[in-house]
Amino acid sequence: MSSFFDQLRRMEKPPLLEKYFEPDATVENMSLEKLRAFQLEALGMVVTRAFRRSEFYRAKLMAAQVVPEDIEELEDVSRLPFTTKDELRQDPWITLACFKDDIALVHVATGTTSGKEIYVPWTWQDFYLNELTPALPYLVDVRPGDICLNALPYEMSSSGLAFHKVFMSGCRATVIPAGKAGAYSTPEKTVRVMQDLKPTIIITTPSYSMALAEAAVSIGFDLGTLPLRRVWLTGEGCSFAFRERVERIWGTKANFYYGSLEGGGMGVECDHHRGYHIPMSHVLVEIVDPSTDRVLEPGEIGEIVVTCLLRWDTPLIRYRTQDLGYTDPDICTCGVALPRLFLRGRQVDQVKIGQVEFSPFYLEEFLMRLPEVGNWYEFVVPPGASTLKVRVEIAPGVEKSPGLAERLASQMEFSVGVPCAFELVESIRRPKSKTIRVVKE
Ligand SMILES: [Zn+2]
Repeated sequence: MSSFFDQLRRMEKPPLLEKYFEPDATVENMSLEKLRAFQLEALGMVVTRAFRRSEFYRAKLMAAQVVPEDIEELEDVSRLPFTTKDELRQDPWITLACFKDDIALVHVATGTTSGKEIYVPWTWQDFYLNELTPALPYLVDVRPGDICLNALPYEMSSSGLAFHKVFMSGCRATVIPAGKAGAYSTPEKTVRVMQDLKPTIIITTPSYSMALAEAAVSIGFDLGTLPLRRVWLTGEGCSFAFRERVERIWGTKANFYYGSLEGGGMGVECDHHRGYHIPMSHVLVEIVDPSTDRVLEPGEIGEIVVTCLLRWDTPLIRYRTQDLGYTDPDICTCGVALPRLFLRGRQVDQVKIGQVEFSPFYLEEFLMRLPEVGNWYEFVVPPGASTLKVRVEIAPGVEKSPGLAERLASQMEFSVGVPCAFELVESIRRPKSKTIRVVKE
């Protein structure tokens, strides 16, 4: 049996990629017209393959009375049926359009939206396709010589491994697989590794970046001594005000990646922090009205729906992410023309106070502007709540004076326009897995 590397060497660059991507192209400097033409052809290939080789998609397309030939322009994507989380939960192999033996890796969703597990299988061919597609060197900006501390979880889901691969093989940088709160990975140990290896790039979640910063304080290490060029944040969203705190603490720019296990990378933020540039080489992103399923115009908030253009063996067509957002097609101030995505949190996390619904990031924005409030908090919102209860730690060095809770509540109430109550606690439990900011107790 030939080794994997022998097989890789024998794999040819598919004609689709040959046709659209010049050897030295980057996705950022390609014309949108060409990228759209690529998207249309790639979509056609994905749908054709799904129709021919996946029972699941064939049945769905037949039920929707669509055949691959109906995809004549990019907008025709709206004629295709959606794929939902519940469908993926039915069977780990449901999307297979290849032999099961060809699956090289199966990721497991972190399960934050509850229910049965979602599995995402990958073949070597699809990895290879992604590897051959041009990168985003201006936006990602990780290069040889960089030392990247990867403090994302490596197990089950894809986040740690995905960035590991991007930084090590895509960017040719040095990667430290620090992990995030795994069996061997503690914030203190990770900080000691930082002390020794002096990373220039850190990738982690917003909340874990705070846990690491606290660990640094506890062992007396000054983060300001690190030669950091950037902190990358992903896995959870956060408000601009929270991000500013992260940037202050780490003394560098903090930019976001947006992606999911199922859909892969769907957005990369530039230094201008004006939305996530959509990698049109990999995904087709739509915004859909969650109640009517209608495709929305730029600027209208709805559910983010993604079609993976480079997954041929386990296709994902019009996947409903349950994340909310909107798009802006205008060219960014950074000069990159890729359209931008703006996030508004997850549907399940929306906070309802009385009749008003809020994105948790919107509420966090005002909360994090209160200097007396620390970096750890929870919004306590039982069903039918008429008051926004905020449980917070007070910022280090701030005196818990009488009347402080009332003063914070009235400031928050002034900003968000609904009744607020503050509970000041000694310590909010530090999360072992994904941080939950909204609790329903
Ligand atoms: Zn930009």
